[in-house]
Amino acid sequence: MNEVTEPDEWESSLLSALIRHELFLHYQPMVDLKSGKVTGAEALLRWNHPEKGVLLPKDFFTCAEKGGALSSVEEWILHTACKQNKQWQDQGLPPFVVSVNISAFPLLHGDLVRAVEQALLDSGLEPKYLELEITEKMAMDAVRTIDILFQLKRIGISISVDDFGKGYSSLNYLKRFPIDKLKIDQSFVEQCLEDEKEESVVKTIIGMAKNLRLQVVAEGVETREQLLFLQQNLCDAAQGHLICRPISAGELTDHFSRVQEIVPAIGMGPDQIKQLWK
Ligand code: C2E
Ligand code: MG
Ligand code: MG
Ligand code: MG
Repeated sequence: MNEVTEPDEWESSLLSALIRHELFLHYQPMVDLKSGKVTGAEALLRWNHPEKGVLLPKDFFTCAEKGGALSSVEEWILHTACKQNKQWQDQGLPPFVVSVNISAFPLLHGDLVRAVEQALLDSGLEPKYLELEITEKMAMDAVRTIDILFQLKRIGISISVDDFGKGYSSLNYLKRFPIDKLKIDQSFVEQCLEDEKEESVVKTIIGMAKNLRLQVVAEGVETREQLLFLQQNLCDAAQGHLICRPISAGELTDHFSRVQEIVPAIGMGPDQIKQLWK
């Protein structure tokens, strides 16, 4: 183990990283599969480590989720993402939702509802332009989560279930929880054209989402064939390297129109889509 991943030291280094302004966010757009329009951007945490360079969440998140440092970090992420989204709107970009990943620790132990209200208040962002991504595992911790989720919904933000299909699927919670969207885990998307089982998992999740009137987004879309498969199967939206890698806020502003051109340029034609969605 290297020095930044030792759990004890970890917590204090993440806090110092926050204080030293070494944390920053990248944003990865999600686009509508009918129109190509940007429907959202997911905020993804990066750490510009003084010795190791830019670290990804996998380099530091496992230990962090256990520690209290994450609450302050998560609060900073919420504030930064909300402010950024308000700024995009003020710059004249068509409004879209910014989504923030929430880990189990702050959801269950911290005052997440208050933090969300504060971030919206400070930024002036309308609640409908903020989404929280939770994991199936968190959703399954029903007794503690359900009340918090209903409080969050009352504020007017939306909730999505991240990495859907990967967790412990008791599907019971989908009916009872105030969820707006499912994000199909990228492992299924990656294999959907190579493996019949994965293909049927993707189709089943899309079908189930439709029946439950939930939006459905495919994560990790990397090829044109995957894009066409998802359009063919009436998936609502997509996110992945094919459309755009996670980029800085400024780059997203600069490349916004180009991102919106990708699906119309390489995906199905408008007539074919209209036919499918009839
Ligand atoms: P996630 O929420 O499922 O985020 C999607 C991850 O997939 C991101 O990795 C993204 O860069 C990557 N990705 C996007 N498109 C593609 C693609 O086409 N191909 C491949 N191979 N990968 C793609 P990243 O940024 O390394 O984040 C990994 C995980 O770390 C996230 O998974 C999320 O669970 C967690 N995470 C990231 N930022 C935050 C945060 O601010 N707070 C919390 N609690 N967790 C975070
Ligand atoms: Mg996510
Ligand atoms: Mg995900
Ligand atoms: Mg994932």
